[in-house]
Amino acid sequence: MIVDVKNLVKTFEQRGTFPWSPVREVRAVQGVNVQVAPGEIIALVGQSGSGKTTVSRMILGLEEPTSGEIWLDGQRWDGLSERERRPLRAKFQYVPQDSMSALNPQQTALEHITETFLVLGGKSKGEAQSSARELLSSLGLEERLHALPREMSGGEQRRVTLARVLALNPKLIVADEPTSGLDPDRRDSVLEALFGNLPKDAGCILVTHDMSEAKQWCNRIYVMLAGRAIEVLDVRKEEPQHPYAKLLFDPWGAPLPEKELSKEGCPFHSNCPIVLHSKCAQELPLLTELTTDSSDHWIACHALCADPESQKKSQAPISTDGETP
Ligand code: SF4
Repeated sequence: MIVDVKNLVKTFEQRGTFPWSPVREVRAVQGVNVQVAPGEIIALVGQSGSGKTTVSRMILGLEEPTSGEIWLDGQRWDGLSERERRPLRAKFQYVPQDSMSALNPQQTALEHITETFLVLGGKSKGEAQSSARELLSSLGLEERLHALPREMSGGEQRRVTLARVLALNPKLIVADEPTSGLDPDRRDSVLEALFGNLPKDAGCILVTHDMSEAKQWCNRIYVMLAGRAIEVLDVRKEEPQHPYAKLLFDPWGAPLPEKELSKEGCPFHSNCPIVLHSKCAQELPLLTELTTDSSDHWIACHALCADPESQKKSQAPISTDGETP
């Protein structure tokens, strides 16, 4: 496995407005497991505040977990000091949302990538420059080699950021909303540049709230809600079943419910259009594997996962008296 994350937890302390206000514990991530195999592209999807970005940042060591284990390429990663991580960092790369802040305003596209090959890739100056030209051309930037960041479009800036990451031939790339703020054409070109040039056997984690992107490019999708994965599936083979995931993936853009997430029981309880099971308000549903032929489909929902019998029932029409027919 390129990534093997076990029972990841992150809590923050939130202070009130005044010095005497009580300190509140915010659970941003609660018991998340994530695996990425070589050559696999997965997506972490969910609304803002679902915990997807915090998970991705912890995987790369940009934030420390409160508890849990993170293994990258067979090596325990959480708990290492920055000095221990530094020699390994080139293998595990992050593509930030804000590409402009990641670029040097004084350097052209060619200078950025040449420098990466030179300093971190260990190439000679001549080799670094020709590799940089080649890579930028493969990302459709052959006409923009001498452009400064401020002279580039948003899509071009993102592609230069991607080129810098790809130049290091990483084993893992975590791309945090790499297309946010771009128009649809530019989004496609950025994602084509990323996924079309992934190093062989590298793993990739795409963090996004755009379900069509996740569906188009990813092998497996982790749907996040209130700091937990509530459904894990291959959307190229199966449709989401969790009521929240169904809303997220609704191609007609049905509005997401606005009621606050429940603190007890299922977090989606006060919004759920079905609430089939009496346990919904009291007990947190655990991520459980569905016993379908395709397998590798996990869901956290009392109504869908209570037992194999209830799985069949859940696909039948829903009665309104709180019981499955
Ligand atoms: S556990 Fe209950 S409330 Fe939560 S999604 Fe399933 S049916 Fe709805």
